[in-house]
Amino acid sequence: MPPDASLILVLNSGSSSLKFAVQDTAQRTPLLSGLAERLGNTQSTINFKDAQGKRTEPLPGGDHAAALDAVLAELAGRSWLGALAAVGHRVVHGAERFTSSALITPTVIADIEACNELAPLHNPPALVGIRIALARLPDIPHVAVLDTAFHQTMAPEAYLYAVPMALYREHGVRRYGFHGTSHRFVALEAVAQLGLDSADHGLVTAHLGNGASATAVQDGRSVDTSMGLTPLEGLVMGTRSGDIDAGAVLHLMRTAGYDTVGMDALLNKQSGLLGLSELSNDCRELEAAAAAGHAGAKLALEVFAHRLARYIGGLAMSLRRLDAVVFTGGIGENSPLVRAMTVARLRPLGLVLDEAANERFIRGADGVITTAGSTPCAAVIATNEEWMIARDTAELAHRGPTPSKAH
Ligand code: ADP
Repeated sequence: MPPDASLILVLNSGSSSLKFAVQDTAQRTPLLSGLAERLGNTQSTINFKDAQGKRTEPLPGGDHAAALDAVLAELAGRSWLGALAAVGHRVVHGAERFTSSALITPTVIADIEACNELAPLHNPPALVGIRIALARLPDIPHVAVLDTAFHQTMAPEAYLYAVPMALYREHGVRRYGFHGTSHRFVALEAVAQLGLDSADHGLVTAHLGNGASATAVQDGRSVDTSMGLTPLEGLVMGTRSGDIDAGAVLHLMRTAGYDTVGMDALLNKQSGLLGLSELSNDCRELEAAAAAGHAGAKLALEVFAHRLARYIGGLAMSLRRLDAVVFTGGIGENSPLVRAMTVARLRPLGLVLDEAANERFIRGADGVITTAGSTPCAAVIATNEEWMIARDTAELAHRGPTPSKAH
């Protein structure tokens, strides 16, 4: 039974989903978590997962409000509602308006709304979730935790594109970076687990899930990252292309009949591992197919590892020195193959794989996967974005509002 007012409800609202977790910040594992899917559809469902197991219930025609009501009913059934201290909301884009997490006020809502144009698929559903949660739980603090905030420490030389400066000034065209909560979490963990100096270290963190990005972290601050104005730039991802010559985009629009809608779908939904392999966006499936001799699957994994190693090498040059490369996310935490293919390409940086350790650290087990003499080292560290959101939320809820312009 949780102690009084010690629980944080973490919400992540997508366009047709609501992911949630109930965290006691003293513990890394959520007490309860789950996902409402296919919202707005007759097939919508919600699942609840705790230490006892997982159960799924239908939520026919349910929208975000119905999903949150189902979560709150579950909490009431466990007599946990009174123990809720605050709600933490994951928000994708905060542009230059947020340099850290922020207690939600009408001004903060307006600031998130002002970023809608930069993240049309992500910010509007987050705002739906925030508004519904504020209406249902008006008496406890709500906090916004932004994916971009961690990267606001980048210098102009790292975040500017070489296009006319008017585009930056008038349209906010610059690199923002994403997955900030995950990069921040694993960077903090790396310092603790590898015994690094918190005020003097250099890391490249690679978050490899369906979306993927890598970040250079100097002394706890992001100094460079692979994603840009949107989460499309950088690494090869499940269905996103990552880097592509803008000239190729123009060429296809001129000669192959793509308009902006078609190009958006091509680069975001039909590319990446899926486009290369002509088989699947799922790394696990590609590994199995490659092992069975599928040439496309093998090629897709090679391009993925090549691009990743090239980015890690490049990002290292944004650091004062490199202590460790950190792998996280579904692929980073679970794929010894991708890690081995990547580390093999990092030999010029001095990394040498410990094959046995690389096979051992999977399914949430953290550890160093390079040989004892290898400097820098490579490590696997399982991410925990929900806990990080809960920790920020608890801190801000406890501290109360700060009357500053920059959040
Ligand atoms: P999301 O970005 O949606 O949160 P995840 O972080 O869960 O995604 O990562 C999903 C990716 O992790 C998928 O490509 C999946 O195939 C991959 N993955 C999960 N387990 C394994 C595994 N055992 N081996 C290889 N890849 C894995």
